[in-house]
Amino acid sequence: MTDGGSADVAIERADVGGVSIATGHLIGGEWVGSARTFETRSPLDWDAGALAHIARGDQQTADAAVAAAVDGFAIWGAMSVADRAAALYRLADLIEERTDDIALAESLDMGFLENSMRQRLVGRGALNFRTYADLVVAHEERIWDAKSMYNAVQRMPAGPTVVITPWNAPFMLSTWKLAPALAAGNSVIHKPAEWSPLTASILAELTVEAGFPPGVYNMVQGIGEEVGAALVADNRLRRITFTGSPETARHIGKAAAANIIPFTAELGGKGPLVVFADADLDAAAKKAAWQFDDSGQVCLAGTRLLVDESIRDQFLERFHHHADELVLGDSRNPDTDIAPCVHPHHRDRIDGFVQRAKAAGHTILRGGHPVEGSLHYEPTLIEPTSNDAEVVQSEIFGPVLTFQTFADEAEAIELANSTAYGLSAIVYTTSRERAERVGRAIRAGLVWVNTFLVRDLTAPFGGCGISGIGREGGDHALEFHSDLKTLMILDDSTS
Ligand code: NAD
Repeated sequence: MTDGGSADVAIERADVGGVSIATGHLIGGEWVGSARTFETRSPLDWDAGALAHIARGDQQTADAAVAAAVDGFAIWGAMSVADRAAALYRLADLIEERTDDIALAESLDMGFLENSMRQRLVGRGALNFRTYADLVVAHEERIWDAKSMYNAVQRMPAGPTVVITPWNAPFMLSTWKLAPALAAGNSVIHKPAEWSPLTASILAELTVEAGFPPGVYNMVQGIGEEVGAALVADNRLRRITFTGSPETARHIGKAAAANIIPFTAELGGKGPLVVFADADLDAAAKKAAWQFDDSGQVCLAGTRLLVDESIRDQFLERFHHHADELVLGDSRNPDTDIAPCVHPHHRDRIDGFVQRAKAAGHTILRGGHPVEGSLHYEPTLIEPTSNDAEVVQSEIFGPVLTFQTFADEAEAIELANSTAYGLSAIVYTTSRERAERVGRAIRAGLVWVNTFLVRDLTAPFGGCGISGIGREGGDHALEFHSDLKTLMILDDSTS
């Protein structure tokens, strides 16, 4: 994001690679602008200038969006579950119809691989809405007779909900947070990240086409510290759900606490990828090299390679072989494996970690430099001199992995659990007993053994430690977005 300065009125639509995208906020079913704008640029061609000038929301925008969401909630929260589910299904169908536009816009705006968007993530976004339409219809209320009373546990939609999302995988991540809030009966105000705002506008437009009543789905654009902070401070909200960094979560948590509003936070990760001597070594080394995917801008990535010391050399040889095959390039090219970093500031931040690691005497096993002439960073592997090194303990969020060895299972577990994070872990072993034992011993919200990233949408998702508060996924998210009520009627007291 760079400041595009002031304008009398925000530009209404922008042509982004042939895709027409609204540049304002969607509030109460209407597209509105702001006096100021910010520009979004493409990491694929940074020097080409602005892809679009986007409305830069402020306190007034936040006030209007929350007021609209209060009105929208009065309609949506009172609608039947079946009618809400039907709207979610319509939205899912419309998302699929716009697959090419969403894939191209996200690839230009954030640098995400266009093919991955087209083949996986847009479909997953549609599936999020379908899955929650199904889950909410089946979400049972409990009824029983006891102590001469009819007892019922009922679910009330919580109310207006702010959904704040990060710049990485923005489309899919947004759908995953918005779908359960809407399914539960809440109205929403979505605030996408300023480094990748475009596909949020397409999604908002599709909600209008899908016939969501005005005010049910609101979307405001702008800077986190401005309109984001104004939104989360509003005491008319009933829920806040956030995905982003622990630093921002601390600010939002304070705002939520001030108004006693429940909030969930899906935060950063520093996951281990543990390779035991009994593992399928080639599969493990290949998966390790693929942690450079999406330029390492993945919260779930296994960025700390922990390898049994007896297989150190064989592992490294295979790892380098697979890493050598990765193609850095333009995200629109189907042959590209590794996209550029999202923003020059982010690339410089990644480089800062690597240069400090060099200065601290850690060994660079591969890479270690920005790529000339693009926003790529070389896929980098660092062997630290100690486990408390900054590169081991801090989330870098780029194509930078660390390499450490362990002597036995106990040390592997100790290293795996040795950071403040606890989002995810990957383990490679062919022993079922070890898989169970190590899987249970690792403190993380998700542990994959001999696989990665695949998750049934009904399973819980979230982190321990500074990786987050609460769980999304399946009924867990529906619980968060509802308030429970126990209704008790004395038998024979009514006719
Ligand atoms: P960020 O925390 O800088 O920003 C996230 C969002 O918060 C943006 O929309 C931003 O505008 C908004 N924001 C910033 N300050 C705010 C404030 N004071 N009040 C309200 N909103 C504010 O994070 P980022 O750089 O966009 O994303 C990267 C981070 O997100 C990494 O740490 C990554 O691991 C994490 N992440 C976690 C998950 C997960 O599911 N656990 C998924 C993706 C990304």
